[in-house]
Formats: sequence, structure tokens, C-alpha cells
Amino acid sequence: MSDFDYDLFVIGGGSGGVRAARVAAGEAGAKVALAEDDRYGGTCVIRGCVPKKLMVFASEYAGVVEDAASYGWDLKQGPFDWQSFRSRLNGELDRLEQVYRNLLKGSGVDTFDARASVAGPHEVKLSTGETKSAKHILIATGGHPVRPDTPNAHLGIVSDDIFHLENLPKSLLIVGGGYIACEFAGIMNGLGVEVTQYYRGAQILRGFDEEARGLVAESMRERGIDLRVGANILEMSPASEDHMMSAAGTASDAAMGADVKQRQEMQVSAKDAKGPIWVKSTNGGEKVFDMVLFATGRDPNSKDMGLEKVGVKLGRRGQIEVDAYSQTAVPSIYAIGDVTDRVNLTPVAIREGMAFVETVFKGNPTPVDHELIPSAIFTQPEMGTVGLSEEEARDQEAIEVYCTSFRPMQTAFAGRPDRVLMKLIVSKETRKVLGCHIVAPGAGEMIQLAGIAVKMGATKEDFDRTVAVHPTMSEEIVTMRTPMRTA
Ligand code: NDP
Repeated sequence: MSDFDYDLFVIGGGSGGVRAARVAAGEAGAKVALAEDDRYGGTCVIRGCVPKKLMVFASEYAGVVEDAASYGWDLKQGPFDWQSFRSRLNGELDRLEQVYRNLLKGSGVDTFDARASVAGPHEVKLSTGETKSAKHILIATGGHPVRPDTPNAHLGIVSDDIFHLENLPKSLLIVGGGYIACEFAGIMNGLGVEVTQYYRGAQILRGFDEEARGLVAESMRERGIDLRVGANILEMSPASEDHMMSAAGTASDAAMGADVKQRQEMQVSAKDAKGPIWVKSTNGGEKVFDMVLFATGRDPNSKDMGLEKVGVKLGRRGQIEVDAYSQTAVPSIYAIGDVTDRVNLTPVAIREGMAFVETVFKGNPTPVDHELIPSAIFTQPEMGTVGLSEEEARDQEAIEVYCTSFRPMQTAFAGRPDRVLMKLIVSKETRKVLGCHIVAPGAGEMIQLAGIAVKMGATKEDFDRTVAVHPTMSEEIVTMRTPMRTA
């Protein structure tokens, strides 16, 4: 008989927390509870990957209708109905939330719809006033988007807000050059919003392969996104009549002037009533936007949880410090997912949750493997990537770079200028493929499979031995014979 109410108390009902809870209860027979103060499913399901991907799908239909004519179809492009899409989207999120709740229930996990904090190494305090004891506590509280400390930054929205907009804006400024900024630039542009994007650095998607990010940036511009690098917001405020008039008179922003009256007249709901917003950029331009979206990073959800008081160590940005087994400085407390700020991706949080259960409940100490994680950025076109970028690899050892860029059959036939990129970084010494980078429609699907080969340590010759699937875009990944360059 345990001295505790539970063997495991999980704080946070997102992808990582739910997986750990139900595997500990269902497979390891542990007595488990989970507390969540918001919707079950967490960032990925409720305000991240899932609704974002559905929005990517929605945004891609405009191009499909245009291209269909080249293929002999007579399809009529109607307007996009945000309200109709949003209500279907919300229905789907409700369904998924229920799936998560049912999974927990089916595994015998007790759930508390309450905010939880840590009151001791084995004690969890709930906002309902109850206190529960547990042999182990797992913190899986995720993260939240942050605004920069620019004055008036509260006028801008963050990614969480996008899915609740009553109306789409006519014009949108997106600040940031990471995953979220670039994905939403493509989505909103596809849905017919005039998108401007400011990124403070020289090229978007810092840290990824330079050639790949260069092609994504070029394609975004070709599709009509006004992407400005070396730019940030210097000042912002609610647009006054004067701002609107002077913005209308600015030669560089002439196109916008015609829209000022229309924008003033635009019916914006109380929820969205933050625009129009006047923005002065660091390179001197002034412009009025209906909406500003800050996609300037995310911070861990570790505040006001009593963590430091019980001895859990936090990093500079509030991330919970853990070892390879996700154990914190307090032996009975573990943490997984974005709150630890290791690799902030849903499948990684799930892996961390599974490794935690193996370690703590199945007597099989399992460190989390963070090497060679494939990932995709759902820009348009998508980028799929695994392993080292050319720049990282050449700093490490002598490499060969195999690379090809071409116009894919489907869009070339429709008269589009779109290009795709297939790239392999190969170690000269071991012949292993150190990195694979794909920019192409469906790159997310392709990199999942290429990721298996790279993770297995496949050499360039292993790729070469594989027969091409013809005619596809991805066949190029096994047909590149001569290195483009060596470094
Ligand atoms: P990122 O950290 O990827 O990007 C933040 C961006 O904001 C960077 O371009 C950064 O610039 C810029 N920035 C930061 N502070 C400021 C500032 N004060 N002023 C102007 N710009 C600023 O964060 P995201 O919010 O895009 O995404 C968070 C995480 O979510 C990602 O790291 C990823 O792990 C995950 N994610 C994954 C997705 C996927 O797998 N497809 C999709 C969406 C999110 P700089 O580069 O100069 O630092």
C-alpha cells in the first residue's frame, strides 16, 4: 500500500503529459492523476500544429483553383469564408479535445480541471483547494508565445489569438522570422490577406540550411509576401487620423493609401479591436496595418508553480533544468516538453514522456535521444530537414554537397515559377549522409522517410543503390551523382 494518493501526478494535459499519464496508468499499472487548467490537448492540438495545419490546407486551395485551368478544369474561384472555416475548425478541435479526455479516462487516469502548483517534493496543490500527494510529479506545462518589450506591443496579437479572430484582417504585419512567423505568413497570404513580414536578421529561419532558407524566402516573396529583412518595429500605436493620411501620402506605401478609407470602415469585432495600428519600422518606413502578429518566440510555462521553492532549478528563460532522463534537481520531480526548452516539438515531448515512463515505472532507464530529429516547417513550399546544415557540417569536417534545384512537373505545367530544392550533405571520410534538406510541396512527408535512412547512418552509396521512384520530385534524392561542391 503506497503512502501517497498517487504514484504519478502529471501537471499539464498536452501531448507529452497525456501520453506519459496514459502509458504509466495503462501499461505500467500506476495510479495516475493529471491536472489541466485549460483545454485538453495543449498547444499542439488546441492552438498549434493541428489548427495551423488545417489552416495551411485551407490556404492552399486558392492556388489549386488557379492551376486547375491549366489542367482543363473550369473551376470558379469564390471568396474564402473565414467564419464557415473557423466553425468547422472549432468543431474539429472540440472533437480532438474529447478524444484526449477519453484516452485518459480509458486508461484509468483521474483528471482535475484545475490549475496545479507544486507544494513539496511529493505534493501538488490544486486551484480547487485540494492537495494531493504523489510519489512522482511530472511537469508538462508547455510554453506560451511572448511579445517583445516594444511600447504598445499589447496592440499586437500572438499565435494563440489567430484561431479566434472574428474576421481576417485586410492587412497584417508579422514580426519574426522563425517557424510560426513564416508559416502564418504563407497561410494568411494564401487566405487573401496582404502580408508584410519584418525579420530583424539578414535571413529568415535562422539555424536552418542557408540555401534552403534562401529558397523559402524567395518563394514567399514570389507568392506576394512583402518580406523585409533587417527590419523591426521601432514604434507602434493605434493609428490616428493623421497617421492614416500621412501613410496614405507616403510614396513607398502608395498602394496602401487607397485602402485607408476602406480600412477605417472595416467592421472589426470587439475581440479583434486592436487595429488599425500605425507602425514605424527601424529602417524609417511608416505604415498602417489592420493587425500586427508577434511571432517572436515562446517561453516556458513555469511561473508561479512553486518550483524554485521546492528546489527545482530554472534556467534564464524559466526553462526547467533536467538531466538526460528528464529528472529535475528534486529527485521525485521530472519535467518534459516545451517547459524544459530542449527541442520544442510535439513528437519530442511524446518521446520524452515515454522515456520517463520507461525509466520510472518500467525499471528501464531510458535517456531521451535528441539526435537527428527530422522536422518540417509548413511554409509554402514546405521545408523538411534532418541533420546538419551545410554550414554546421563544414565547420565539423570535410564534406561533399549534393544539391539540385528544379521546377517540378505539376506546377511548371501550370505555368508557375516555383522551384524545389533537394540537398544532401555527405561526410567525405565516412560517406555518411549528415544532413538532408528538402524544399518542396510535401517536403514534410518526404523528410519523415529520408529521416529513417539518415538516422540509420545511411551512406551516400546507400542512397545511390536505391532505385528512383519515377516520376516524382523526391527521386532526385537518389539520383544526384556529382557533388555540387566540396568544403
Ligand atoms: P522561434 O524561436 O523559432 O522564432 C522567433 C523569431 O522571433 C526569430 O526569428 C527571432 O529572431 C524573432 N525575435 C525574437 N525576439 C524578437 C524581438 N524582440 N524583436 C523582433 N524579433 C524577435 O519561435 P517561434 O515562435 O516561431 O516558434 C517557437 C517554437 O515552436 C519553435 O522553435 C519550434 O520549436 C516550435 N514550432 C514548430 C513548428 C513545426 O515543427 N512546424 C511550427 C511552429 C512552432 P532571431 O532569429 O534573430 O532570434
